[in-house]
Amino acid sequence: MNVFFVGAGPGDPELITVKGQRLLGQADIIIYAGSLVNPALLSLAKNGAAIFNSASMTLDEVIAVMEQGVKESKLVVRLHTGDPSIYGAIQEQMDALAIKNITFEVIPGVSSFLATAAALKQEYTLPDVSQTVIITRLEGRTPVPEKEKLAKLASHEATMCIFLSVHMLDNVVKELVDGGYTYETPVAIVQKASWPDQKIFRGTLATIAQIARENSIDRTAMIVVGKVLSTDYALSRLYAPEFGHMFRQAQEAK
Ligand code: SAH
Repeated sequence: MNVFFVGAGPGDPELITVKGQRLLGQADIIIYAGSLVNPALLSLAKNGAAIFNSASMTLDEVIAVMEQGVKESKLVVRLHTGDPSIYGAIQEQMDALAIKNITFEVIPGVSSFLATAAALKQEYTLPDVSQTVIITRLEGRTPVPEKEKLAKLASHEATMCIFLSVHMLDNVVKELVDGGYTYETPVAIVQKASWPDQKIFRGTLATIAQIARENSIDRTAMIVVGKVLSTDYALSRLYAPEFGHMFRQAQEAK
């Protein structure tokens, strides 16, 4: 195996997996995804490793670097921010490699929506409030299928993690309200979750756009919407005394 797609994690270089870190240290060629990958991770590279920033490369160029590396029996690491399966544009790379009979492996990473929950010290799935997390984005240059428009998804009033959309916050708010969320619904924005300059902003659908403008929030930010952010909830059944499961017998109600 010569090619590894590696999730770099959300920013903090200690949030890459042990496996990802090992491969990064062994790689002869590293192709990393532009500004979102913390440069501190690149300092794990061994002396003499060739390092490419994919921000200035086309898909064909990325594949050509990988193919050449494989021909020379080099170890190639393609480093993607967060987890590569989420808005990572890795399918087209994997499919291009498969056509060339180049085998590869994917090493998962900590996605930014999870680092965001950690920053907020928030569980996304609270009993009686929401048991569903929707990962989505507002339409940009990449179209979003009609059935997945933000307003439609909002009608579920599940916890939503909205990627790639903070620069269009007015539209986000409009769609969420059109979809059924009230203006009182709590919203949090985490900018650069897990980076040293991480920032947290909290508001409601009525106030968040103004808060974002006042703080000139940049694009590396996650929008979280949902009642989980501010609500009473039922305690988890998992730890309830009267609720037995595979590893613990239920206790008699007192
Ligand atoms: N594969 C990545 C997402 C890439 S899309 C992942 O799993 O996290 C890029 C978007 O991810 C950004 O627009 C932003 O919405 C979000 N993002 C990436 N890193 C972030 C971070 N450290 N904090 C908050 N949002 C982040």
